[in-house]
Amino acid sequence: TDSHIAAVESARALNAFIVETPDHARAGATAADAALAKGEAKPLTGIPLGIKDLFATQGVQTTAASKILEGFVPQYESTVTSQLFADGAVMLGKLNLDQFAMGSSNETSAFGNVISPWRAEGSNRQLVPGGSSGGSAAAVSARLVAGATGTDTGGSIRQPAAFVGIAGIKPTYGRCSRWGVVAFASSLDQAGPMARDVRDCAILLKSMSGYDPKDSTSLNLPVPDFEAALTGDLRGVRVGVPKEYRLEGLDPTIDALWTQGLAWLKDAGATIVDVSLPHTKYALPTYYIVAPAEASSNLARYDGVRYGLRVTPDGASLAEMYSATRAAGFGAEVKRRIMIGTYVLSAGFYDAYYTQAQKVRTLISRDFTEAFEKCDVLLTPTAPSAAFAFGDKADPLEMYLNDVFTVPSSLAGLPAMSVPAGLSPTGLPLGLQLIGRALDEVGVLNAGYAIE
Ligand code: GLN
Repeated sequence: TDSHIAAVESARALNAFIVETPDHARAGATAADAALAKGEAKPLTGIPLGIKDLFATQGVQTTAASKILEGFVPQYESTVTSQLFADGAVMLGKLNLDQFAMGSSNETSAFGNVISPWRAEGSNRQLVPGGSSGGSAAAVSARLVAGATGTDTGGSIRQPAAFVGIAGIKPTYGRCSRWGVVAFASSLDQAGPMARDVRDCAILLKSMSGYDPKDSTSLNLPVPDFEAALTGDLRGVRVGVPKEYRLEGLDPTIDALWTQGLAWLKDAGATIVDVSLPHTKYALPTYYIVAPAEASSNLARYDGVRYGLRVTPDGASLAEMYSATRAAGFGAEVKRRIMIGTYVLSAGFYDAYYTQAQKVRTLISRDFTEAFEKCDVLLTPTAPSAAFAFGDKADPLEMYLNDVFTVPSSLAGLPAMSVPAGLSPTGLPLGLQLIGRALDEVGVLNAGYAIE
């Protein structure tokens, strides 16, 4: 624990942590030693973790990387983190992220950018760690922690995992409780683990999963032993290649990686089949209607009364206090999402945008159901590129395009994972994505295991 605390302190230049919690870590280590002495080790006894600062942690500031929640200290613990701690995990701190988990590069945090520990060969340019779970990605990749919690609404576990060469899985929607996780888009948000390899993800996922009566969308189903299922044997497994993901102008390096991944899966015994997900091209526009719509509703609670920041100009009315607080407390990207969300939900445009998006979402789900009649798991790239430099995607639309491979499975609520699969020509990590049937994390993890 002391060496991990020291590592966290010596890596402050990465800005991966918003709050370091060495006292929490030391107390956890003492408890772990006592448990070990009594021969009462649990699955995660003494394992040092970082917690994305979107999970409420009792007595420890929880900000969602926003000014509006700065200084908010929850009196309760999220279900996922309480399960991790009950299994013996030790928290080293709260990890930086894109503000309210909105972003793909960690440039929207109110606490500054997270810097990737990676550099392209022959270049000193600082690279993004991906987002929104960028602090989680950087901390695991720099070996500051053994694993981290992430959340994934449209790719926020998978894309940062790919950018820094680690593994991360978004389980089936409902597998992990959302209780105590700051809400972004409730019908899409899922927690999941990020770790060095597939096995560590499997172990962490087991602790994070399970039914929670406090989350009405939590699944009341048994949690498999994900680790025990890792055999790397894919005989009898059909791997689907969705032809719509072969985008025009796809980076040849990414294309070659994908082909290589298919060869690895074949070596492990899988058969490869071509499949079609015809509504793929509507996934990004659908996501960027549904997610902001839900966000605008979820973020209405930050009114300067219930949480954190309050700005009261002299003689301000209640409405003026609301708007002054929200103007000062939300960052530019969050405001953009609230404006898009309220627009698509407004009386005049609801049917044209929101209702339409919900219908297309159903078609996207149906595409997957049909594809999974012909195959058991899908292989695709995780992201269309390796990590980019800060400021390289200043246009929000260009940033949104980076989510092209991750949002369709989010809209369908399916389990999906990114595994480290190789390096770009300049030595940067690249990831491949496995997408499975609902509840088939085992199939996803096992196929990922065969690749890494
Ligand atoms: N990049 C996507 C967005 O900005 C996904 C974020 C996430 O999964 N939390 O909405």
